[in-house]
Amino acid sequence: MSDYKELLKKAGEFHGDICGGIVVGTKLAIYGMENMGMTPGRKDKRLIVFTEIDRCISDAILSVTRTSVGKKSLKPMGYGKFAATFVNIDTGEAIRVVDMDANKKDKESEGGNEETIEEMIERVDKTPGEELFKIQEVSVKIDPNDLPGKPLEIATCAVCGEVVMDGKHHLKGGKAYCTSCFDRSYYELL
Ligand SMILES: [Zn+2]
Ligand SMILES: [Zn+2]
Repeated sequence: MSDYKELLKKAGEFHGDICGGIVVGTKLAIYGMENMGMTPGRKDKRLIVFTEIDRCISDAILSVTRTSVGKKSLKPMGYGKFAATFVNIDTGEAIRVVDMDANKKDKESEGGNEETIEEMIERVDKTPGEELFKIQEVSVKIDPNDLPGKPLEIATCAVCGEVVMDGKHHLKGGKAYCTSCFDRSYYELL
């Protein structure tokens, strides 16, 4: 089995099934890590990954890069775009990898002979990464609070009394507030 197929299997197990997003996301993550001089499928403490979409592809990226939200090494950005950025926090080197297939304008009109998932796996396995993805060299500023490691700032909200980690509090008049109390919340108390 190729490294790709082995990592694809693992990503599929994590995601629940091997769909198109997992097929492409696995390849994207391998390509990204290789371009960073890192080993796909192996945890690398220097790596932080920003994923831009809350869909299948990002589960494959998580699985292959061994990054996680809990380790602060995975940053889901929710931009709704088929791309991910790989950052080496030791060197500051960063690349943004874009899935070109998902960005084809004439994708819909191609139609007709839809490939099966098995055919897609074979195609993606054999195609060199540079034909599937675009790489941009980028610079990413990461707040020290967002880096892995011990918490730098811990506050308590003056309104709700709940703890706010990692500098995510807001200061006003010398008091700290959580985002829900300070700004607006994604939930409403009933
Ligand atoms: Zn899926
Ligand atoms: Zn609060």
